[in-house]
Amino acid sequence: MPKLNEMSRDILGSFWDFLFPSRCPMCGRYVAERSGWCPSCLQKALTVRKLALPPGSPFEEIWALSFYKEYLQKLIKDLKYRRKMSTLPYIKSLLQGSEQELVWLADSDFLAVPVPLFADKEKARGFNQTEKIFGEWLQEKGISTVRGLIRNRETMAMYGLSPAEREENLRGAFSAVEEAGVPLVQGRKILLLDDIFTTGSTMEACGRVLKEAGAERIVGLVLASDH
Ligand SMILES: [Zn+2]
Repeated sequence: MPKLNEMSRDILGSFWDFLFPSRCPMCGRYVAERSGWCPSCLQKALTVRKLALPPGSPFEEIWALSFYKEYLQKLIKDLKYRRKMSTLPYIKSLLQGSEQELVWLADSDFLAVPVPLFADKEKARGFNQTEKIFGEWLQEKGISTVRGLIRNRETMAMYGLSPAEREENLRGAFSAVEEAGVPLVQGRKILLLDDIFTTGSTMEACGRVLKEAGAERIVGLVLASDH
């Protein structure tokens, strides 16, 4: 029976592909693989780069995979604000496309930690988008994700705030999660994840808390950045 099931799944799959051929999410051209991008759009969307860090940053490096504009902006907004889970396979294809430029990620000693949402906000949205974006892809690469940080309160959007206001806004906003009195991130190589990087203040605040909690190394990874 399992053979037959497999066979009917293959037949149904081919029929589905015949009825609804896969298209590139950006330009609409037909593509060979479902959830794939056409090579030219993938190349345009992927701009893997290291971001500039402020002096005294707790990060070794922060990497961004794309620019937060045009299609990427739409994709992330669809996921966050319209809860469109159908965006996730396309995001995953993008992450897979970035792998050859992220050779350091092959070192799977990393423990991934997503920037947390305040509990009320997560409850309202139904999920933490950063976990949705990176979780499955990292798991396939053998990198575990843990909730090593919590957000103690809601913070204002950073955009338009002065550096001093940003610092005040984030003071005490994050804490390290402990188990039996030991921070989960203590002595670990941390891969701090976020969906978007704008002012960088949130990442920096999280990075400082991770450092204080005894993280050994901290590298940042964001899906999109506006600079
Ligand atoms: Zn395309």
